[in-house]
Amino acid sequence: MSVLEGVRHQEVFRYFEEISAIPRGSCNEKAISDYMMAFAEKHQLEAYRDQALNVIIKKSATEGYEKAPTVILQGHLDMVCEKNRGTQHDFEKDPIRLKIVGDMMYAHDTTLGADNGIAIAYALALLAAKEIPHPALEVLMTTDEETSMSGAINLEASPLQGRMLINLDSEEEGKLLVSSAGGRKAKVVLPVLWEAAPEGKAAYFLRISGLKGGHSGMEIDKGRGNANRLMGRLLNGLCGEFKLQLAEINGGMKSNAIPRECEALVLLDQNSTSGLQEKLAEWNSVFANELRASDGGVQISLEPAAKAVPRVFSGNTMNRIISALVMLPNGIQSMSMDIRDLVESSTNMGVVSTKADEVWIYNEIRSSVFSLKAAIYDQVAVTASVLSGSVVIESEYPGWAYDPNSRLRTLFSRVYEEMYGKKAEIIAIHAGLECGVFMEKMQGLDAISLGPNLYDVHTPEEHFSISSAERTWEFLLETLKKMKEL
Ligand SMILES: [Zn+2]
Repeated sequence: MSVLEGVRHQEVFRYFEEISAIPRGSCNEKAISDYMMAFAEKHQLEAYRDQALNVIIKKSATEGYEKAPTVILQGHLDMVCEKNRGTQHDFEKDPIRLKIVGDMMYAHDTTLGADNGIAIAYALALLAAKEIPHPALEVLMTTDEETSMSGAINLEASPLQGRMLINLDSEEEGKLLVSSAGGRKAKVVLPVLWEAAPEGKAAYFLRISGLKGGHSGMEIDKGRGNANRLMGRLLNGLCGEFKLQLAEINGGMKSNAIPRECEALVLLDQNSTSGLQEKLAEWNSVFANELRASDGGVQISLEPAAKAVPRVFSGNTMNRIISALVMLPNGIQSMSMDIRDLVESSTNMGVVSTKADEVWIYNEIRSSVFSLKAAIYDQVAVTASVLSGSVVIESEYPGWAYDPNSRLRTLFSRVYEEMYGKKAEIIAIHAGLECGVFMEKMQGLDAISLGPNLYDVHTPEEHFSISSAERTWEFLLETLKKMKEL
């Protein structure tokens, strides 16, 4: 018996059940894209598949909608594969097993794939429908969204004629997502000159720790401390007063995570450490005071390093490294004036790392406005150049700027208010989305992103509200019906 007994809109959920049986982890999308192509053939719909296995399926407008603008309905075919420890589940071949608890749909001990199976199910139900009025549809389902957005990036977009794109990969009912950030990962390279370590000095690890860290996009507005920046300020403060030499510096793990810890290997005169300990305690209270409301657990520590330190950075090299850590832009750079409390631009000095003859500093730059992303990058590049270093762009993805004239936003907002008697919330995120990639690929694109309430996505607890998915389906259909007025 189907798990779906009693659920409304079986035409949607039956497809959800059907695709749940097809393994479709990121980079394993052949079977699901075959399924999509077979579906198109069965329903005699025009379909395209590109090298990246993205699928486009077209369906003509229903009667009376011939003049309405073509709509691209978009989602992604892949899903995140996570399971509970001890669960026997092979994501390469086993179907996801669904279960319903009250209003919620779960999987048994694995991710559910509602992110973004819900989009696939909506799209298939629309493509198969005979009675639903709608404009010409172009269903676009991409691959590998969850790891690198490589499907969207490599999309062969020429079959797409529509310039109105509805992305169905959002996770909160009643919210309309209208902007996302673009990003650029910039690596600053500072060449290093070494000197032999002077005699009679002792080696210590100077550490900053106890910080919360977090995602450099979603949590950049939480006021958390950046361990690399704090280390720069600390070393800069100490250098004038103490004869300190630097042999190594390393902090942070990933450019897109706010660094929680930074460690410097320093050489000091044996007798200078007592005064230094006092100074460190002062700095510790300075940082703790600044961060008291957001990240008060910051700790500075100094410990003897039980290792031989044969060489140190030259004085000039040390100054350049410290200057970079003090000068490179970091944190929020601008706030949106269109959407309240939205970070528009930011950068995160995520990693500092000592290599054989270089020090690398990774910066994760984000903005929904291309020129602002470029401006922050210029600031990074100019800083590097002033310090006799250079900069390399390691990766980049485009942003989706807020469009004050979006017709889709106006229509969806109006229909939402008519249906529910309240306003939909207009939101944006300070992280990358496929919509940003499409903005760059398809000139003149108008886009919006929405979806039903999903919870605990990317974990084995992933679930969605069935009633919310039902309402979102009705909202989508009602808006498509009103597309005639656009
Ligand atoms: Zn998704």
